Amino acid sequence: MTPRLRPLPSPFTMTPRLRFAPSPTGDLHVGGARTALFNWLYARHLGGQFLLRIEDTDRERSTEHAVRAIFDGLTWLGLDWDEEPLFQHAREAAHRAAAAQLLQSGHAYRCYCTTSELEQMREEQRAHGAKPRYNGRCRHRSDAPDLPFVVRFKTPSDGSIAFDDLIKGRMVVANDELDDLVLQRSDGTPTYNLAVVCDDAAMRITHVIRGDDHVNNTFRQLHLYRALGLTEPAFGHMPLILGDDGAKLSKRHGATSVFEYARLGYLPAAMRNHLARLGWSHGDQEHFTTDELIAAFDIHEVGSSPSVFALQKLDSLNGWYLRNSDLDELTDLFAKYLDREGIAVEVDHDRSWLRQIVAAQRERTTTFKEMAEKSGYFFRTPLELDEEAAHKHLRPVVLEPLRELRDALAALDAPLTAEAVKTPFEAILARHELKMGKLAQPARVALTGSAISPGIFDVIEITGKQRCLDRLDAALAYVERRATGELAS
Ligand code: GLU
Repeated sequence: MTPRLRPLPSPFTMTPRLRFAPSPTGDLHVGGARTALFNWLYARHLGGQFLLRIEDTDRERSTEHAVRAIFDGLTWLGLDWDEEPLFQHAREAAHRAAAAQLLQSGHAYRCYCTTSELEQMREEQRAHGAKPRYNGRCRHRSDAPDLPFVVRFKTPSDGSIAFDDLIKGRMVVANDELDDLVLQRSDGTPTYNLAVVCDDAAMRITHVIRGDDHVNNTFRQLHLYRALGLTEPAFGHMPLILGDDGAKLSKRHGATSVFEYARLGYLPAAMRNHLARLGWSHGDQEHFTTDELIAAFDIHEVGSSPSVFALQKLDSLNGWYLRNSDLDELTDLFAKYLDREGIAVEVDHDRSWLRQIVAAQRERTTTFKEMAEKSGYFFRTPLELDEEAAHKHLRPVVLEPLRELRDALAALDAPLTAEAVKTPFEAILARHELKMGKLAQPARVALTGSAISPGIFDVIEITGKQRCLDRLDAALAYVERRATGELAS
């Protein structure tokens, strides 16, 4: 990938600047998406900036495909970022300079211990029942042999380090709990903690909000800020996301990547709303517009206990957003969904036709996936007939009224609107003294192949005159064959 370096902001401003700093090693997962969302919401809430940093220092595991997946996932969720994304790999010179500065100032030292020496050290510690850690052997070395070395941080051996977490409150650790972490590997590349501190400082990040698996790193990073003489940001660590069985959310709970949810036909608004509620709530409000989320979101109100990603909840939110979103926006999203999924619409159509389908189906479906599946009879010809429904509803007794319906539709000027179809349809019901369902069900089976569909007038309008006539003709032929005993009834 081509690293692009944007100019760093200068002079320093106190504008809140938050960031999302994913490692591009896979898809954007639910946990990462929530981290991005909380940073984005809080940045927007404070009137600040939301930045992206791609942590691609692990050259072997970082891929361009994953970078794309992160951009696409964020874009799908509606999270926009300010400024050009920063690629961490491009900042290696600054990372090296920081390591050199720490060596110079005596906050770090060269460690020449080999892998096998380190392994032996750990084994001895284990044998004595001690926690395996680096024992500081090279801390006081005064020679400088011409051997490979790593740069280690000289963690203060007494005292403690503390910070006020925006979510968890006061966090303290004794310094002797933290061993001398490696800042730079023997090939000169920086480790995560060094790179993150250098870059957060260079990007003038004011708030670091991330998962609570980073709490231990934060203590180490605070030491680095101080040793480098840099201004510390505020930190907030979000609790874990669990699956509905109480275990950490993972693949076995189903889809974990944001894009899988897009493919399953969930709406970005529903996903955004669902993710926002993972650890944060605002009274008992369940549905939020984006502007409402931005106005209400406060990182200090995020709870410190884990939250559960319940698919059922997402389903119910998605259904709500399907029913309540602006129809034109929904139609655009549905068109994109069909496109992305390669779902063919074999009928010559325009946006207003698709809009009619969305309007007719949105009360009856939970996701775009379901909407598309249930719209096969609009999208494709020939019709797939549900044998059971045909057997039940296309009986000889409907032959006459169904034929009259066919002729009435033939006599109407195209396009057949639901409004225009209603009067002749009701006239047939009256003439044959039939209840609505007695003609609507056979007509429904004739036009959709199944006994379940949106309202029959909408179905007629969406199906269009010619296809209605063709399908009614086919159904009439089927009924006739049953009437003449050619088909068993
Ligand atoms: N690349 C790190 C991660 O994905 C970033 C952590 C941080 O936000 O500092 O976990």
